[in-house]
Amino acid sequence: MKRIKMLLVAMLCVVMVFGAASVPVSAEVIEVEKPAEPKRITITDIGFDKPAYHTNEDITFHVKIDGLSNKDIDNIGYLIGRLERKTCKLYYNKEKDMFVGKMTAEKKECKRTITSISIYSKNNENINSLYNFQNYYTTILVVNNNCADGNHTIYKDNWTGSSTNFPCTESWIETINCNICNQVIYSRIIPALGHEVSDWVIKKRATFSQNGLEEKICNRCGDILQSRTIPKLTPTSKLKFKKKSITIKKGKSIKLKYTRKPTNAQDTLSWKSSKPKVVKILKNGKIKGLKKGKSVITLKTNTGKKAKITIKVK
Ligand SMILES: [Zn+2]
Ligand SMILES: [Zn+2]
Repeated sequence: MKRIKMLLVAMLCVVMVFGAASVPVSAEVIEVEKPAEPKRITITDIGFDKPAYHTNEDITFHVKIDGLSNKDIDNIGYLIGRLERKTCKLYYNKEKDMFVGKMTAEKKECKRTITSISIYSKNNENINSLYNFQNYYTTILVVNNNCADGNHTIYKDNWTGSSTNFPCTESWIETINCNICNQVIYSRIIPALGHEVSDWVIKKRATFSQNGLEEKICNRCGDILQSRTIPKLTPTSKLKFKKKSITIKKGKSIKLKYTRKPTNAQDTLSWKSSKPKVVKILKNGKIKGLKKGKSVITLKTNTGKKAKITIKVK
């Protein structure tokens, strides 16, 4: 029975495989090249030969692209850089390894932003789809007769910092830039500030069984500057009253004497009277007899050591 079942399954498989692979005789299969993934390229430099131009002056515009092979460069006819409504054609310059183009500054003073770079083949075909720009790029063309003569305009004390993520240990640069062409006019180095050291901060408290840890950190950047161990706490090893029992008069109070070793023990003590109506616990080991009777006073550490004394009140 099992064999027959297996045979049937096998036959079904054969039918399925051949059925799927067969193509009607009249159909035709067209095989084409799989389109290549767009190539990743990066604009590493984009700009002009001067920070600002006179009206009607000649301008050289350049674009440097990383990620292009020699074959790509052979295929590229030119780039079109678009400055808002104005365009500029750029051709590959082998010596500079850049695309370079010439244009003329506008007739009036203005600022223009580059809004796009397009790539064209030698047949004037837009081949942007073959490439994938990995970065956002922007540059501004400044036509300003004043800046072009080297007479820039700045805002007073308008220092802006490039800043650093590590102001404690790294210096950084601040600049004042021309507010028309953005050229750096003044620059200064702000030295590293140095760490701002905190007091000791406990990271882990010491217990009777484990060491603790404390640190000095920088209040500005949070770096750990110093750390040290806090030794384990010292427990009481011996706790004993000087006497086993004491008799006092009703209404009197006395201080109970006891020995505790070592003297630097850090555990806490607690007092208890078995009959608080007979003997009352006051502060700092003092007791008071309230009425005739007997009470057992227990002195205890939080680490488990105990001592007892009997108080008779008459
Ligand atoms: Zn300027
Ligand atoms: Zn710091």
